[in-house]
Amino acid sequence: MMDKEQLLQSILASDELPTLPTVASKLISLTAREDATLADISELVSRDISLSARILKVSNSAFYSFPQQIGSINQAVSILGMNAVRSLVLSFSFLTIKGGKAGSRFNFEQFWKRSLAAAVAAKLILEKVKGADTEEIFISSLLQNLGELILARTFPAEYDRVLEAVEENQYDSLRAEEEVFGLNHCLVGAEVARSWGFPVALQLPIQFHHQQESYQGKNKAVQQTISAVYLSDLLVNILFSQMPETYHRQFRREAGKLLNLDNETIEEILDQVHLRIKEAGTWFNLPMQKTKSVQEILQEANIRLSLINLDYDQMNKQLVQAKIRLENLTDELEEKNRILDNLANLDGLTGIYNHRYFQNALDQEISRAGRHGGTISLLLIDIDHFKQFNDNHGHQAGDFVLAAFARLIKENIRKYDVLARYGGEEFVIILPETSSEDALPVAEKLRALIADTPFADNRQEYRVAASFGLASATPNIEDTFSKNGFIGQADQALYDAKERGRNRVCSYTPKKKWYSF
Ligand code: GH3
Ligand code: MG
Ligand code: MG
Repeated sequence: MMDKEQLLQSILASDELPTLPTVASKLISLTAREDATLADISELVSRDISLSARILKVSNSAFYSFPQQIGSINQAVSILGMNAVRSLVLSFSFLTIKGGKAGSRFNFEQFWKRSLAAAVAAKLILEKVKGADTEEIFISSLLQNLGELILARTFPAEYDRVLEAVEENQYDSLRAEEEVFGLNHCLVGAEVARSWGFPVALQLPIQFHHQQESYQGKNKAVQQTISAVYLSDLLVNILFSQMPETYHRQFRREAGKLLNLDNETIEEILDQVHLRIKEAGTWFNLPMQKTKSVQEILQEANIRLSLINLDYDQMNKQLVQAKIRLENLTDELEEKNRILDNLANLDGLTGIYNHRYFQNALDQEISRAGRHGGTISLLLIDIDHFKQFNDNHGHQAGDFVLAAFARLIKENIRKYDVLARYGGEEFVIILPETSSEDALPVAEKLRALIADTPFADNRQEYRVAASFGLASATPNIEDTFSKNGFIGQADQALYDAKERGRNRVCSYTPKKKWYSF
């Protein structure tokens, strides 16, 4: 990287460095001379007819708001003053500098518009400061970013990198310039202004507009000009940047701090600036499309922000709702499936498991007992003389008793015992991990409970008794074990219980073979 001095030299020597129009550069040297007269000046400016016409147009506009008509450059110079006319000449000259090569990121059109807007804004701001010297503020602010223009024209590829870094939010523009060039546009602009022979009063605001605190001089007018130029940059950023609110806050804060402007004055400035900019565009032949008021811009930004929030909120809400709906749906589906499964497995009258479920459950228990060497007991229960019961009390009472009977058993067995309706008035209980010795007292307890428990509906109490057939098996040590054989054994025991007088429990005992006698 070149050092600062080398870089400045190469900028000043560059073919790309714009030259000021003849009138402007001659005017600068003329006004720098002690012996220059107003007549000299008006004579010089009058030579450029189109420039003169533009100066008269502005002189008679609200820009100066002089009550009296200014008919000639001569009059303009004597009424507005030498410096005012010089400012106008420089302004027009500056605004006629051509843009750089096409294809770079630097937007020259936008640059002129922003410069003009800043010039108008700075003038508006400084006019609100009592006793401030506003003669040079317009041109000072107009020229504040001269260095940007020079850098973008002289080193377009490098300046693209600056703009890239700014777009990617890596740095602000000053910092990005320093990263790429080792210096910023303030210094470059001031140096170029010096090389063009601009008076020091015009160089200083260019040099210090981003660092007012670095200006060590005691000149109050220069200080105020620098501050106004800096503030105009903030104000323009309210209008042109993507972060109007940020710059709005900063502008208010700094305007109070640097120029002692009160809220009411700040409000006036914010109210008027867009109108002033639009007017100035017509005087300087630079149409400004963006004439929205600061208020409008801030409102829009606010709405945009709340819309973004709203969208996000809405989106969030919808996502959450969709998620809840999905979860509910899944829960509902699971619940429905569970109910369906259960319905398929449950007996409609009694609410306990049905025969189908019993068969599956017994398969599972057998295979589990087979793996662990466990013993299963099976209880078949048949209500005694139930045909007679129906005959005596009616089928409905019979149904009622069946349901109450099932409930009574259910409430008096272990959680992992499986109670099912085997069919009709027959029930079955699978007792996992239960030997016949342990199952027998369970069966006896249930039998006694049934015999002792009256089932009362709203009409009367009913009593029933039941017979129990018990079979137990340890599937993995029985070579010839089969499920149906096992059930058959329980059925055999039940048959025995009926045979022996009912209301009793019988265990399966293998039939004695005739030759064992
Ligand atoms: P045992 O003591 O020999 O078992 O005599 P039982 O009358 O109970 O036996 P049986 O098998 O002859 O008759 C069973 C009766 O159970 C016949 C039927 O009316 C009755 N029953 C079967 N299912 C239901 C039912 O769902 N509701 C009602 N109310 N009665 C039923
Ligand atoms: Mg029966
Ligand atoms: Mg029966």
